[in-house]
Amino acid sequence: MVTQYKNLINGEMVGTSDVLDVVNPANEEVIGQVPACGEAELNSAVAAARAAFKTWSKTPIEERRAAVQKISAIISENSDELFRLLTAEQGKPHAQAQGEIAGAAGMSGAQATLDLDDEINEDTDQRLSRTRRVPVGVVGGIVPWNFPVMMAVQKIAPAMLSGCTIVLKPSPFTPLTTLRLAELIKDAVPPGVVNIITGEDSLGPLITAHPDIDKITFTGSTATGKKIMEGASKDLKRITLELGGNDASIVLPDANVEKVAEQLFWSSFTNAGQICVAAKRIYIHEDIYDELSAAIAAYAKNVKVGDGSQQGTAVGPIQNKKQYDRVLELIQDAKDNGYKFLVGGDAEKSDIPGYYVPITILDNPPEDARIVAEEQFGPVMPLMKFSTTDEAISRANASEYGLAGAVWTADPDEGVRVAEQMETGTVWVNEFLHLSPFAPFGGHKQSGFGAEYGKEGLLEFTYPQVITVKRDNVPA
Ligand code: NAD
Repeated sequence: MVTQYKNLINGEMVGTSDVLDVVNPANEEVIGQVPACGEAELNSAVAAARAAFKTWSKTPIEERRAAVQKISAIISENSDELFRLLTAEQGKPHAQAQGEIAGAAGMSGAQATLDLDDEINEDTDQRLSRTRRVPVGVVGGIVPWNFPVMMAVQKIAPAMLSGCTIVLKPSPFTPLTTLRLAELIKDAVPPGVVNIITGEDSLGPLITAHPDIDKITFTGSTATGKKIMEGASKDLKRITLELGGNDASIVLPDANVEKVAEQLFWSSFTNAGQICVAAKRIYIHEDIYDELSAAIAAYAKNVKVGDGSQQGTAVGPIQNKKQYDRVLELIQDAKDNGYKFLVGGDAEKSDIPGYYVPITILDNPPEDARIVAEEQFGPVMPLMKFSTTDEAISRANASEYGLAGAVWTADPDEGVRVAEQMETGTVWVNEFLHLSPFAPFGGHKQSGFGAEYGKEGLLEFTYPQVITVKRDNVPA
């Protein structure tokens, strides 16, 4: 008997007669069914969010903060159950699923400490001008399948803290852990403040078009982000878009090969490469290229790909069949073009059930290779050779994307000099994948619009309202 999951609408767990199957990517077995919502369920969720907004928007911020902290605590307390379910539906190895659940708890707890203080613009004998922040209203949150819990919580927490209410739609590929979390937090939040509904991709445009939703916060592909921007333009909904990336790492000639090889590997292969900010193109200075590429390849050969619930697995399957086919297609394209593989190179689906892609590392493919020019979102890492730092920077910047990047060097000052020339929203010097709850995270160019996290991320859930009092003109 497959477990049936329900949606959270107006404080109640509710089901629908139509359901969607959710598959474990490690073995292709159906592990749960979730409601297949359409317009009627969306309307109920939005109506509940709208009704709750009246009170929640007026609830003191300290109470809203406490509610977000309660959610953070519930995630921590139930981490064991949640991370196992997350591995089963998403595929990531247990340790990484634990990391995601801990991250969701930690980041939301930290976000809860942010403030929305008024700002004084002018304070003179003539006038007092003050900017206050008012919540935008009902938020539609749309989430992808690579970090389903983290992304859900990073939308729920600031929405709640700002005084908004939310209708959240997980990806149809990975809704289970989010729905289990919905059940766990149901009584910690007033009815209607957080609503979580599931459905096919077709539910997304209904959210974007809904006349009673005031803002969309979306994480997913650039292609979908563009559709959302277009849909939201009809009634000028506010939007925050966290989109795709083709993030470049630049390894300068002074970098210690032994120290960076393993870190570079994991900057690309964590979550089987399915991270928006994974290193997707690695530029290595020609002086150390041979030594470093050999060290990365040697490390890769000992990394086990397999079912994330099995001990020893370090890289899990691709999350879904569509993405799996795309990654295999990119490997096949590299083969067809005669590019050299340092590791892997097999683009065939094996007979074993599960969407497994062997670790694949390419040796200096050209800039116009599809694997370099496109976002692969899978366990395939192209290593490229460069001669001058300026050349590496310009190759790194030659992309419509601008999400993140990294610089590896023995000289952190030089690292910062390079970082400041990269056209991305985040640049790491000598680390990777680190996000701070207090720093804005967002893409330049076609990697996004607006930001999440930090004060800037929180402000995106609010409108500024300026109240001006003319002090020397009181008609008393
Ligand atoms: P996707 O765009 O296909 O789907 C994301 C979500 O949008 C899903 O919930 C989906 O059901 C929904 N959706 C699909 N079509 C829609 C439409 N027309 N209108 C509204 N919603 C719609 O993305 P994905 O395949 O789930 O995720 C992978 C992509 O997400 C990659 O490109 C990756 O880089 C990006 N991503 C970005 C970030 C970031 O923070 N910048 C983080 C994670 C993933």
